[in-house]
Amino acid sequence: MKRILMIGTGGTIASEMTESGLSPRLDTTQLLHYIPQVQSICSVDCVQTMNVDSTNMTPADWLTIARCIRDHYEAYDGFVISHGTDTMAYTAAALSYLVQDSPKPIVLTGAQKPISMDVTDSKTNLTDAFTYACSERASGVCIVFNGSVILGTRAKKIRTHSFSAFSSINFPELAVLQDGKVLQYIDLPKREQPLFYDNIHENIGLVKLIPGADAGMLDYAIARYDAVIVESFGVGGLPETPDSRFFSSILRAKNMGKLIVMTTQVLSEGSDLNVYRVGYSLKDQGILEAFDMTTESVVGKLSWILGLTRDPIEIAKRFYTPIAHDLLITG
Ligand code: ASP
Repeated sequence: MKRILMIGTGGTIASEMTESGLSPRLDTTQLLHYIPQVQSICSVDCVQTMNVDSTNMTPADWLTIARCIRDHYEAYDGFVISHGTDTMAYTAAALSYLVQDSPKPIVLTGAQKPISMDVTDSKTNLTDAFTYACSERASGVCIVFNGSVILGTRAKKIRTHSFSAFSSINFPELAVLQDGKVLQYIDLPKREQPLFYDNIHENIGLVKLIPGADAGMLDYAIARYDAVIVESFGVGGLPETPDSRFFSSILRAKNMGKLIVMTTQVLSEGSDLNVYRVGYSLKDQGILEAFDMTTESVVGKLSWILGLTRDPIEIAKRFYTPIAHDLLITG
C-alpha cells in the first residue's frame, strides 16, 4: 500500500461557521475522519503546517510547505495538500518552481464548501486527491478539483462559488477522475530526485491597467518593488497618448535595474508584444514578456528566480526556460 503524507494548511475545506463567517478550524486528522474509505486506498500520515484562510498566505508559507515536502520526501510515495481555494493556484505555481520534476505526486486540493456541510465538494475532492496521488503515472505538482487534474503551473481559480472552481489555462488537463478511476492524458517530465530550492524573493508587485490609468501608479510600483508585473490589455502594450508617461516610467525602471514583466489580463492565449506598436517599442526596453504563462506562474517564477540571482541576463534566461510546461510560446 502506498504511503501518502497529508499536509494541512486550512481553507474552506477545514472551516467551520463562526460568528464572523467561515474560519479554518479542523486539522488534517479530523478531515480524514470524514473520508474513511481512504484507508482502503493508501496509508496516510498527517502534518499541519498552518491552519489559515489562504487569503492570509504569504510566500513564506509556500516555502514552509516546500520544506515540509523536502523533509519528508524519502519517507512517502506522494503528498496531498489541503488548501484554501482562493490562492491555491499561486501556491501550486510556487511549489512547481520550488520542487521541480518530482517523480512523486504533490497534489493540492480543497473545496468550495466545508467538509462538515451536508452538501459539499470536500469529500469527493479529498478522496480524488488521494486516489490520484496513488496512481502509477502521477508525478509533479498539480491541483485535483471537481474531477480534473490541472498542472500546478496552469491552474487558475475562475469561479467563486461553483464546484468547478478551477480551469487549466493554455494547457490541457493532465487527467480526469471518473468514479474513482484515473484517466491520465499527459505525463510530466520527472527525474530520479526532484530539484529542491529553498529561497524565495518576496518584493514583487503587480499593476493592472484600466483605460485612462495614470503612470504614477506604475512609478510607485517601480520605486516600491524589485520586479513589477504589468497586466495590460489584449496581447500587451502600454498607453502612448501624449499625456501618458508610461514609456518614460519603463525607461526609468530600466535605469534603476528594476524588472518589468508584461502580461495580459485576458484569460487565455497570452501576450504577444510584436503585434501592435503600443507593445512593439517596449521590447527594446529590456522588459520581459509572459507569453502564455498565467499571472500566478509569473509570480511564482519571479519569486523563485529573484531568490537565486539578480543578474539581468541570468534572470531572462531562467524566465524563458520552460519549467513544468509553464511556457509553450516564447516569441
Ligand atoms: N477563503 C477560502 C480560502 O481560500 C476559500 C476556499 O478555501 O474555498 O482559504
